[in-house]
Amino acid sequence: MVTTSESKAALNLPREAIRTPMYIDGKHYATAEHEFFTRRSPGHGVPVTATARGSRKDLDLAVSAARRAFDDGRWSRISGEERATVLLEAARLIRANCETLAWFETLESGKPIAQSRGEINAAAGIWEYAAGLARVVHGDTHDTLGPDVLGLVMRQPVGVVGIVTPWNFPFFILSERLPFALAAGCTVVVKPAELTSTTTLKLAALLTEAGLPDGVVNVVTGLGSVVGQALAEHMDVDMISFTGSTPVGRAVMTAAGANMKKVGLELGGKNPQIVFADADLDDAADAIAFGISFNAGQCCVSGSRLIVHRSVEGELVERVCALLEKVRVGEPLDASNHVGAIVEARQFEKIRGFIEAGKRDGVQLVRGGRASSEGERFFIEPTVFRGVDPRSTLAQEEIFGPVLAVSTFDSFDEAIALANGVPYGLAASIWTRDLQRAMKSMREVQAGRVWINCTITGGPELPIGGFKQSGIGRETGRHGVDEYTELKSAHVQLGNRTRWIG
Ligand code: NAP
Ligand code: MG
Repeated sequence: MVTTSESKAALNLPREAIRTPMYIDGKHYATAEHEFFTRRSPGHGVPVTATARGSRKDLDLAVSAARRAFDDGRWSRISGEERATVLLEAARLIRANCETLAWFETLESGKPIAQSRGEINAAAGIWEYAAGLARVVHGDTHDTLGPDVLGLVMRQPVGVVGIVTPWNFPFFILSERLPFALAAGCTVVVKPAELTSTTTLKLAALLTEAGLPDGVVNVVTGLGSVVGQALAEHMDVDMISFTGSTPVGRAVMTAAGANMKKVGLELGGKNPQIVFADADLDDAADAIAFGISFNAGQCCVSGSRLIVHRSVEGELVERVCALLEKVRVGEPLDASNHVGAIVEARQFEKIRGFIEAGKRDGVQLVRGGRASSEGERFFIEPTVFRGVDPRSTLAQEEIFGPVLAVSTFDSFDEAIALANGVPYGLAASIWTRDLQRAMKSMREVQAGRVWINCTITGGPELPIGGFKQSGIGRETGRHGVDEYTELKSAHVQLGNRTRWIG
């Protein structure tokens, strides 16, 4: 890692692409044969980093290292206290290297530097929280099974875990999974998104510095269709934790069937902002503007559908649009910008396609819609479509960009039916001052995560994950560590068995 003094220059662009090899068995790893993929900053259009295109063979090496590290107990059998010490030191090192990590995160993802700094620091907080959980993992006893039997329920680490992450929150999403797997005693092979691999590689080196034994965390970079697919199929991997799109999640689930590995999936969303007529409209407008602009809308819990009571729709849309006028989109290394770049050309074209289709179909565009890809720098203005048919593409499909689809409702039941009328169920926000209405909506809405009079907020204490096609399993919170364990129950005979044959 660069030192604090080196990182003073951090807000400059690198002179050439900074190369980082893979990380296997406690060491950087690359051979002369490895091709390197050069990443261009989507906010600047210039080469900034390069990471190795790993192969199936590299993945096998990493899985073997993780397998050895798990089976010999160097991590899986040490005390929770010892694991917690390493995780806390990791958190300290993450904070100490925040500036460098944030710089790489912004260069590769295009997100504003102030946001990257916030995400790295918040991620350190998750490592601290998970350190505590390393000492909390425990089982259960049943002393009610009769005079001669004691029942024990043990929680054991699931084994070797594969973690596949997306490009939208590379370091943060990894930190919602990895420290929990480690707290449970698992060993891990990570496959980050190729576009944004550097901070994951830097983290692996920091973990060694923090005292993590070799082979416990390994990183294989490269293409999802090669390395990710091989990880999901691998016969020696016991669990796969995948975060990304719903179609790839489906493929991962199929691949995992090869050896019946445990599967955790965090997938897409089309998250409603439900606004009742009695809501604080100023508060709601600010959150709606944030919810659609944050990370340029490339956020799985983005509030991309506004479902608003007909009587306040005009007023609310006006306020949202007025706020969006003040949102600054541009240069990600300028700390005063709110919204940075779209991650790459393909994603940029996909979002633009949705906007153009909306316009073609005659949907009312009330704000934004402009996109620029000059000099291979990709920016899209926060965009609002009004009067969107809830069955249409704009209201049904995950756009993963700063595009808001506004629909109206007349009754409570209609609001809930619209909110639930998509294949996803990741998150929902509810805006009302009426406690009963808030509680009732919270109970009815199909989402793993509900925000009442707020949006996209929280900490590691609460579990996250999706209903319906948004995923399987939960991350973070107490459940976040349970996810990486297997239950084992034991019947202990305390007296004589009743004999089968006299
Ligand atoms: P993606 O295309 O599904 O990719 C996610 C990861 O999977 C990347 O590392 C990718 O590798 C890898 N991958 C691709 N094909 C694979 C395969 N056959 N087997 C195993 N891994 C494979 O998603 P994305 O475009 O990166 O991210 C956007 C999507 O992620 C959105 O739909 C969003 O909703 C979802 N997301 C969900 C959450 C959540 O918590 N629910 C969080 C963030 C994002 P490469 O890209 O390097 O080839
Ligand atoms: Mg992809």
